[in-house]
Amino acid sequence: MITDNLREVRQAVRDSCALAHRKPEEVTLIAVTKTVDSEAARILVEAGITDLAENRVDKLLEKQYNLKDEIHIKWHLIGNLQRRKVKSIINEIDYFHALDSVSLAAEINKRAEKNISCFVEVNVSGEESKHGISPDELLSFIDQLRDYPAITIVGLMTMAPHEANEQELHDIFSRLKILQEDVRQRTLAHAPCTELSMGMSNDFPIAIEEGSTFIRIGTALFKDA
Ligand SMILES: *Cc1c(COP(=O)(O)O)cnc(C)c1O
Repeated sequence: MITDNLREVRQAVRDSCALAHRKPEEVTLIAVTKTVDSEAARILVEAGITDLAENRVDKLLEKQYNLKDEIHIKWHLIGNLQRRKVKSIINEIDYFHALDSVSLAAEINKRAEKNISCFVEVNVSGEESKHGISPDELLSFIDQLRDYPAITIVGLMTMAPHEANEQELHDIFSRLKILQEDVRQRTLAHAPCTELSMGMSNDFPIAIEEGSTFIRIGTALFKDA
């Protein structure tokens, strides 16, 4: 049952926060609904989930339409976004988690009718298959985003490799935390960078220990849905 899964995930979040001497309110649980229909998403919203994520533009718009009576939902686009789709989605969402090129930033800025909260995706692990800015290029990338006033960099996002072991996960997430603090301490108006989007079903307890403020959870909530 989805609500049982939710109870388990919430308990695991509390346990990890306790271990890390953090407050559970510091961690926003984003439900990733890409594998389920709108009614499964609705069950979570009725159980108090306020943040929903999709990785595809069409799927996000469809869920939004089906859940339009739920006016308090915050919508997160977590997947990589093609430039030609920016126009149709960028003013419909609350957060975009996968900003990783200047050309995409330019398009977002051009189409934005409000301020757009973005996470810069960082390829911490260096896997070739992964999207994201390399850690070495992060600071210069963020400097370039100054030219796009509609974009605010609220934080950094990463995805750990599936096969990473516990030590490697600690390593990847703690490196993203260090990068986030580097940016935050520069007190840039366009990049407050106070948030960390890291942790999925298999690795969120470690991400929370390392400072995550947004965890993106799919499978753990919907494994039997
Ligand atoms: C699917 C997805 C998730 C959720 O992954 P689970 O392992 O199912 O929790 C998180 N982040 C991104 C970017 C995803 O595409």
